[in-house]
Amino acid sequence: MPTNDKRAGATRKPKPDAIVDYHAHVYYDPATTRGNAERLRERIAKEFPGVKLGRWHDEHVGPHPGSTYQVAFPATMLASFVPWMMLNRDGLNVLLHPETGDGYRDHAFHAAWFGQSLPLKLETFGKRARG
Ligand code: ZN
Repeated sequence: MPTNDKRAGATRKPKPDAIVDYHAHVYYDPATTRGNAERLRERIAKEFPGVKLGRWHDEHVGPHPGSTYQVAFPATMLASFVPWMMLNRDGLNVLLHPETGDGYRDHAFHAAWFGQSLPLKLETFGKRARG
């Protein structure tokens, strides 16, 4: 497939085995729910030593419509991580998206939410922002 053909990229349907890892983005409000987010982060680290915990972003970054930190984990952990997060997110909103190599589509079309779904700033992908 030609790599410079944007139309081919737009219609590409990656296969699930193309997903190497996932991101869960945990959203919080620095004024009211940062403590919940801190406790959740500690529990994630204890329950899932294989995850990579990203930095705290009180300031909004990339496509994210709120303060957030990232939890990156391999596809092999999906079946254990997702139900745990469903039951333990402590009222926080969480965005789950695969990493297929197409950040825009991963956030715009391939994502799932736990809690309230928030409007992502998808225009940031035009500036090649990392999600
Ligand atoms: Zn992400």
